[in-house]
Amino acid sequence: MTEFDLIRRHFTRPTPSAVLGVGDDAALLQVSEGNVLAVSSDMLVSGTHFFADADPFLLGHKALAVNLSDMAAMGAVPRWATLAIALPDADEAWLGKFSAGFFSLAQQQGVELVGGDTTRGPLNLCVTIIGEVPAQQALRRSGAQIGDDIWVSGTLGDAALALAHLQNRFVLNEAEFALCVMVLHQPQPRVALGLALRGIATSTIDISDGLLADLGHILDASQVGAQLDFAALPISSTLLGYMQQPLGRQCVLAGGDDYELCFTVPATRHAEVSHIAAQLDLPLTRVGKVVAGRGCIVHDAAGNPLNVEACGYDHFR
Ligand code: ADP
Ligand code: MG
Repeated sequence: MTEFDLIRRHFTRPTPSAVLGVGDDAALLQVSEGNVLAVSSDMLVSGTHFFADADPFLLGHKALAVNLSDMAAMGAVPRWATLAIALPDADEAWLGKFSAGFFSLAQQQGVELVGGDTTRGPLNLCVTIIGEVPAQQALRRSGAQIGDDIWVSGTLGDAALALAHLQNRFVLNEAEFALCVMVLHQPQPRVALGLALRGIATSTIDISDGLLADLGHILDASQVGAQLDFAALPISSTLLGYMQQPLGRQCVLAGGDDYELCFTVPATRHAEVSHIAAQLDLPLTRVGKVVAGRGCIVHDAAGNPLNVEACGYDHFR
């Protein structure tokens, strides 16, 4: 199979919303009137972001999902994607499953694959996502105001708990692992939430590196501080069982790969956030407040500051 057969068979689908899709030297895309492009890339490297024997269908899902999460965090409508992929060999069965996982999420989210690059090499996946948003409505990291409430979607820490199990740092029973591992392998990007937060959230970020690390980016960009209420952090019933252990706390505060959104909203708009939660059938939890100063203090249930040694995972540390 030539490279071009491979691209035709596995990565070429109709792209009705592109002026020109796969097959020429570049795709041609028309931006909708009044919108700007939101563009972001996320690379998944074998051995760093996934195990070499990872399920290809789930990998296809995740490669796109992590990019969609960035669109969610900008309040952008995802429209198009490109895929740069390095493959050790042209394994037909693997490619079929990978592209099925990729395209099932792409179709669900209305995203068209309009181009990419295919080369031989150690397995490596880089998706670039292109979305649209009216410039003034983009959700940036820099708008948090003192007095705003801090919210997070879904639950935190399950993906990190599953990873700890897979890396033999912790042992979960079969049922617990089955629940957590789906969050790790098949994250659900919060695109609809990002769109609903336009005009409401003062700042937004997606949680890919852990709550403390990613909220920290909002605080830096907005030049404010935060107080978090540890007891308020939303966790699954699985993680609840491990909250007395250091690893449980670490997962919820610093666990990566959850792809939930963290956002700030003026306290006066609480009801609007509750309304969004009901409409989307997605738990949204108020976890703290934006305060003057810098950095983040986490309070325990008794109101005492928690000793937070745990911080977000940093690839170059
Ligand atoms: P060039 O030589 O101009 O870089 P390529 O031969 O790499 O072009 O690619 C041919 C066409 O196939 C281009 O339109 C490119 O965008 C597309 N393409 C290549 N790899 C992928 C892929 N993995 N997924 C989607 N489209 C791809
Ligand atoms: Mg090329």
